[in-house]
Amino acid sequence: MKGSSHAVIGVTAGAIAGYQVQPDLFTVAVSSIVGGVSALVPDLDTNGVASNKITISKNVSQWLMRLVGAGIFIAIAYQFLTTGFTPSILLYGGIGLLLFIASRFITQRRMLTLTGIMVIWLGIVMHQSTGILLAGIYIAIASFLPHRSYTHSLLGLAFYAFILHQLQQEWLIDGILVAGICGYASHLVADMKLLPMNRRGVKLFAPLWNKEW
Ligand SMILES: [Zn+2]
Repeated sequence: MKGSSHAVIGVTAGAIAGYQVQPDLFTVAVSSIVGGVSALVPDLDTNGVASNKITISKNVSQWLMRLVGAGIFIAIAYQFLTTGFTPSILLYGGIGLLLFIASRFITQRRMLTLTGIMVIWLGIVMHQSTGILLAGIYIAIASFLPHRSYTHSLLGLAFYAFILHQLQQEWLIDGILVAGICGYASHLVADMKLLPMNRRGVKLFAPLWNKEW
């Protein structure tokens, strides 16, 4: 199923779920967005629509990395000229060099790995947000998984629900948890073999039971 179809189903599922939680405009609006985004998350294990959205295109990201690398070098040079040598220059110089090297051999999926690592880092910097940190871990893991494996299982759904639970507690917005679960679950259902357009199913109980549903 295409990403746009997943998104439409997810928005609907999220809106209905949000309305059950609290029938006001804000909750329903937030829940629709959360449902739509959540319905794209399981396909982070592909080079498809969802992963393109989060990692931009390969060419753009390559040049972006080089640009950031160059920016870091200019900032370091400036700091060296104004305040002299500090140990942090080595650290940032290393990061800049790494970006240049990585931009040469980066693939779409490794771009996703890097995105995950950046989100993890964001989670640590942003008041130690466990929710953001876990979201980064999810993205980094998904970038190594074969298509329609763990992200399309109940284990993946449970991990995702735990992330939503953390975010809802940190952001104090009702509906995130329920709408996100409904959006994510709608993707798994829409990918199931019982629907005639799906030739492959989903391994709902992986790794315990690898039967495709
Ligand atoms: Zn899928």
